[in-house]
Amino acid sequence: MRLDKLLFETGYGSRNQVKQLIKRKQVRINGELVLTDGYNVDPELQTVLVSGKQVHYQAHVYYMLNKPAGVVSAVRDANNQTVIDLISKKDQRPGLFPVGRLDRDTEGLLLITNNGQLAHQLLVPKKEVIKKYEAIVNEPVTDEDVQAFKEGIIFHGGIQCKPAELRILETIENESRVLLAISEGKFHQVKKMFLSVGKKVTYLKRVAMGTLVLDEGLEKGSYRALTNEELENYQ
Ligand code: URA
Repeated sequence: MRLDKLLFETGYGSRNQVKQLIKRKQVRINGELVLTDGYNVDPELQTVLVSGKQVHYQAHVYYMLNKPAGVVSAVRDANNQTVIDLISKKDQRPGLFPVGRLDRDTEGLLLITNNGQLAHQLLVPKKEVIKKYEAIVNEPVTDEDVQAFKEGIIFHGGIQCKPAELRILETIENESRVLLAISEGKFHQVKKMFLSVGKKVTYLKRVAMGTLVLDEGLEKGSYRALTNEELENYQ
């Protein structure tokens, strides 16, 4: 790939800024000074140094984000902050996008990557990746609800959901906190499932997707790269 593209994609500044770095003799490849922006470099085979420091290039990046409420799961939005806006400049890459969607008011685990192939594999319905949500529901959830979820909820419009595992964590006064595991990703699925049993979700947070579990050490709105282990288990 072109040297200026490599430096741009690894966060060394705008296209103009990286050209300046090259011009100011700050860039070496395998120890040799390089003054050509268009120099063809193979970051896997060659060592690139900028001001004496090695550039670490990864073609694909994978970030675990703890999505806060109020941010949209989109790449671009004319009116709202997006999950991609939460990624710092140095970690930005062309083609970054969220894998799947969480509603604007939903919090929790979202995978962000620039690997379209991985995303496709994860999103095809037959993959049946189990997604786990913690929810607060505005009325006490009952054992009958648990049974109905197990048998497969039917939405008001008649759409049948696959069996889901619902666990009541606690019921305080008139609210229940629950954990729900589903293997589908229908639009507003969790909210609609509860609406089908006459209840409203007032808080929703995704806590796991397949083997990937939300790192509770991540503050809302922050993210980190997946570890090698998380990545290997997930692909
Ligand atoms: N189900 C919902 O209703 N909303 C989400 O954001 C995710 C699952």
